[in-house]
Amino acid sequence: MTQTSTFSELRLDGVSRQFAGTDALKDLDLTIRAGEFIALLGPSGCGKSTALNCLAGLLPLTGGSIWQDEKRIDTLPPERRGFGMVFQNYALFPHMTVRSNIAFGLQMRRLPKQEVAQRTDEAIRLVQLEEHAGKLPGQLSGGQQQRVAIARAVVLEPSLVLMDEPLSNLDAKLRLEMRTEIRRLHQSLGLTTVYVTHDQEEALSMADRLVVLRKGKVQQIGTPEDLHTRPANWHVADFMGFRNLVELTVSGADGDLVVVEDKGLKLAATPVEPLSTGDAVVVAVRPEDLVVRTGAGGHSSPSSSVDAVVEVVEYQGRELAVEVRTREGQRLHVRTGERLAPGDAVTLDVDPVRLLAFPRGDEPLAGRATLGADAEPRDKDVAPALSGSGPS
Ligand code: ATP
Repeated sequence: MTQTSTFSELRLDGVSRQFAGTDALKDLDLTIRAGEFIALLGPSGCGKSTALNCLAGLLPLTGGSIWQDEKRIDTLPPERRGFGMVFQNYALFPHMTVRSNIAFGLQMRRLPKQEVAQRTDEAIRLVQLEEHAGKLPGQLSGGQQQRVAIARAVVLEPSLVLMDEPLSNLDAKLRLEMRTEIRRLHQSLGLTTVYVTHDQEEALSMADRLVVLRKGKVQQIGTPEDLHTRPANWHVADFMGFRNLVELTVSGADGDLVVVEDKGLKLAATPVEPLSTGDAVVVAVRPEDLVVRTGAGGHSSPSSSVDAVVEVVEYQGRELAVEVRTREGQRLHVRTGERLAPGDAVTLDVDPVRLLAFPRGDEPLAGRATLGADAEPRDKDVAPALSGSGPS
């Protein structure tokens, strides 16, 4: 079973959806190339399911259009778009065996019995459920049920597979295994996939390109590397694991860098957009990019160092997750292989290339929510930063 996409690109042109006059999705422009794996990323309420449902035809658009090459498709009903869907809750027929669940769509298309049997067998083999083909969904684990759901979608050789948080009901270990499995299927079958998730790690590890949404609007579209190294604004940085966010002020320039200061800090940072002296900025740095120096150190760039005292140490295998506090009360998250203990005095060095300065914008850091309209608890790696709040 190999899928050859029936299109070379799928174009979303200003796709918008309102509910009772409120924008759930606003002006989404995106071109998906055949064979791409696209992740729609953002926390609860940011509009990712709305985007997926507009694409699937389950929700009519209130603005914009969707094109498959030269053919407009947003006016077609879901069944005429030829897309496969995989949902979080599997949506399997409980009274039918694994084999019957997978064969069902082919039978509905009235394909010859022999073809149905052959394609079903192949799909069962692809998702490695040969031993379970005669069981009912209720006799399977969550991961196995999700494999059935995936097989049921891909057996129809869809031109596009849409997945809405397909792994969110699985435990952490299984999620990791299924990530690899979905990516393997995507590649080996030559699928085009649009995958919705609120988990940045999942999106970064699986997708060719990510679309980050916030309050229904696109914040950034880019490769995992683009998003990881160059988030477009501090909201994206916050969501992509830059756990240290601090509001500072630009006090000058230093070549391509800016000098930012306040709260007892004075640092050289990389401006993400042109900045001028006096501008309010949010600087962002990942915990692993704050390098711990214990004892007296010969560091050549004192403007990019911070003195602090260790407060909390969490054991995380080879590394420690450490929370430190500066004399002025700024708390920072550090990830280090150094064996630190509470009370230790440390100096943190930061390479200005890793310290990004963003214009603060209209929304102050204090009291910020997550990227979406509704705050939700996030994974520990992207937990709200203890930032910008000064002494408490
Ligand atoms: P989640 O991860 O929780 O599914 P999401 O990012 O997929 O969130 P959407 O479900 O697309 O978010 O919702 C976007 C916004 O639209 C939210 O503010 C939501 O409350 C609103 N919304 C979604 N569906 C409806 C509806 N049927 N009626 C009214 N408002 C809706």
